[in-house]
Order: sequence, then structure tokens, then C-alpha cells
Amino acid sequence: MNQQRTIKAPVELAGRGLFTAVEGKVRLCPAPPNTGVVFVRTDLPKPARIRATIANLAPERQRNRRTSLRDGTVAIETIEHIMAAVNGLGIDNITIELDAEEVPGTEGSPKAFTEALLAAGFEQQPAEKKVFVIEEPISVADGDAMLAALPGESDYLDILFDLDYGPVKSIGRQVLGFRLHEDDFAEQIAPARTFLLADEAKEFQARGWGRHLTPKDLLVMGPDGPVDNELRFADEHVRHKIADLVGDLALLGRALRGRIVAYKSGHKLNHQLVRKLSEQVAAKERSAALVRPPQLDIRQIMRSGRQERLHQRAVLPGPLPRRAHHARGDDPGGHGPALRRAALTAPGTHRQGGRAAEYGPGQDAPTGPAGRPVGHRGRGTPRSHPHRPLQVPGLRRRRTGGRGGDQVHAGGRRAHLVHGPQIGQIAQTTLTTQARGSAPGRQRA
Ligand SMILES: [Zn+2]
Repeated sequence: MNQQRTIKAPVELAGRGLFTAVEGKVRLCPAPPNTGVVFVRTDLPKPARIRATIANLAPERQRNRRTSLRDGTVAIETIEHIMAAVNGLGIDNITIELDAEEVPGTEGSPKAFTEALLAAGFEQQPAEKKVFVIEEPISVADGDAMLAALPGESDYLDILFDLDYGPVKSIGRQVLGFRLHEDDFAEQIAPARTFLLADEAKEFQARGWGRHLTPKDLLVMGPDGPVDNELRFADEHVRHKIADLVGDLALLGRALRGRIVAYKSGHKLNHQLVRKLSEQVAAKERSAALVRPPQLDIRQIMRSGRQERLHQRAVLPGPLPRRAHHARGDDPGGHGPALRRAALTAPGTHRQGGRAAEYGPGQDAPTGPAGRPVGHRGRGTPRSHPHRPLQVPGLRRRRTGGRGGDQVHAGGRRAHLVHGPQIGQIAQTTLTTQARGSAPGRQRA
């Protein structure tokens, strides 16, 4: 799964928000490559688009048991379960239209969203998946709760969750490993529902939240088990914690690869870890931009006004040119060796009637009737010295006749000196010289 993907067709879903109890409708729509996950509030006079990234995370105060987005005064509340479905199914690009402030709660799990997305089907897109591979271990902690991102598999994200409710026997300790995008998210994780302890549920509703909910609508855990409900898995709680984690990790805006180890963590630590990971992503992308090698384009080199100097540098193999340049003081940027390499490796190129003609090693540069390379007219072509031999201190020149070139002897080394300024021809000549066994820079007098 190295290509980005979206869904094939729009799909809709409705329900009341878990917290606000307000009825809302979501419409999940395909989106172009590199869109990411974008929410759109369609109930406002002017629709507001908010990208689901950690930069748009709503302040956590008053929201410590969920994940919400905010842009100015516009909010999208309780996104974690729909985000879990999107990330769990490996969807990179999607637009989620919403006509309320809060995403429908369904039953407090990613199940309904996952089924809707599976029904819509998936479409591969002509863009490479954005991936971040964890290379440096980082962790966040809060009391005895801890969440760590560690190097691991580079093709998957392995999640190991250790949920420990200590003396609460109806939950106890549950440890589960899940490999994202390899194990079956729809079967193993999506059906796991939100759970609350009975006391937490009372407090939740005392704050005015979820007043429409009864213990049948999500898991309210009493001392001996769920109140008025049944577990879907013996370890449904830890599965739900993994669902929340998968949803929150999607705020990185990239598919994460490596290993996540969680101990008693929740949304707050999830957000802190994603913030740290996003700093790593930014640092890595900055350094990648800095170390990217400059691209030497032979056509640009040929067009440049430094044509003559390039010619002189490129024609001389080995260390001698540096001495020659120093003698002339004309290597201010110290680019001689790099340009020489470019000349030695690039196929010959020249312009002919506005069209670039190319010839590679083993082919001679085309010549005109007078024995000089064709295409020497027009913009960007050399304007001087088509037949002026190169004058370099330390070299003595011997006329050998033949087409367009003399041999030069420099400190016992022999090279073929080209009269035309075609770098391709120079490269060709130099290669010929090398083929004769005159390894540049290796022989001494
Ligand atoms: Zn949840």
C-alpha cells in the first residue's frame, strides 16, 4: 500500500453527538491526492474547512476525553472515532462534510464509520503515500501513564497497549498488540465501544453531556461487568483504547511506521506524542531539503556565460587543471571538480534548430562542413574562439593534424585538446583519453 488512496463514492451517516446530543449528518467524500483529511462545516453561512492535523487541535481544557479541531471560532467536536476508521482503513484523502458541531456518536465506536467507508470502496491514487518512519525513540508521560514511539518495522505500525485498571476487576489489566494495516481493523478494533466507569458516567451526565445516552448506548462498567449491556470482546476496553490511538495518530497527516508502546495512556498523551512526532517530521523535512544535492544540468552549464572557462576546466583531466586555475585565479567558487565530473559523465548535448540533440559516449559530436561542431549560432551558443587553441601554463602543444584537435603533453600526461567549445565533445575526447590508459590524475612524470 504505497500509493495514496481515497474512497470511490460519497457515503452518508447520521446520528446524535455523544457530548452535545445534537443530531448531525456526515457525508464522506472522495478527495484528490495530497488533500489529507479535511472536515467541512456545511451548516455555517460560509462553509468552513478545517484540516485534521495536530496544528488545528482544539484546546484540551474541557475536552480531556476526546479529540476536537478548532479554527478560529469554528469547531469540529469528537473526531477520534471517525478518524480511527479513516486511518484504520489506510485512507489518505477524504473530505468529511458535517452539518453540526459534533460528529455523530453512533455507539461510541468507529464501527459505523468503518462499515460506511468499506461500503463506499477504495480507489488508489497516482501519488506516493506520505509516510513517516520512526527513527528516534520518544516518549511522553503523565503520572504513571506513558506513551512511546520507537523504531520498529518500517512497513507497518505495531501498537502494543497495556491497559491497567488495577483494582477495577471488571476491566483489570488487558494487554494487546495490533499491527495497523496488516491486522483486520474492521473486525478486531472498530467494533470496540467507548467505556466509562459508573461514577464517571454520572459525572459525565452531571456536566450536561450525553444526556440522551443510556447504559445500552455505550459501555458503563460496574464492579462486576457492563451495566445493562454485554461485551463484544472480553478485552473490548483495550481494543477501544487502540481505536482512539489510531484515530489520534492520524493527526500527524502521514502514515506512521514503527512501534508504539502505550501504558494507561489516553487522548491527552496521544496529542502530546503526535506534537513531538510532528516536530520530528518537520525537522527531517528541513534537513532533507538542506542536504539535497544541487542538480547540475548540462544544458544550463552550456548556456551559461562561463562557457569558455568551463571548456578549459573540463578539457584537462586530473589535478593539473586546479593548478592552472589557480595560476589564472579563475576558480572563485571552487566548482572546477564538480563541473569536470559533470562534463565527464554527461552525454554531449547541443542545440540544433532549437531542438536539443544528444549524443553519448562512443558517438562523435556532429560536425559541419568546416569540421566544426554544428549548431553554433543563435542564443546561448558560444560567440568566440571556435578555433583558438587553449593556452594553459604547464602544457605544451603538439600539432598532430586530424580533425579538430591536438594532443597536449602535461607532466608526462597526454590528453586530446579540442578546439571547439562543445562540452560533449570534450567529454568524449576525455573518455577516449581514459580508454587509452591515461588515467587522469594518476600518472606522474
Ligand atoms: Zn473513544
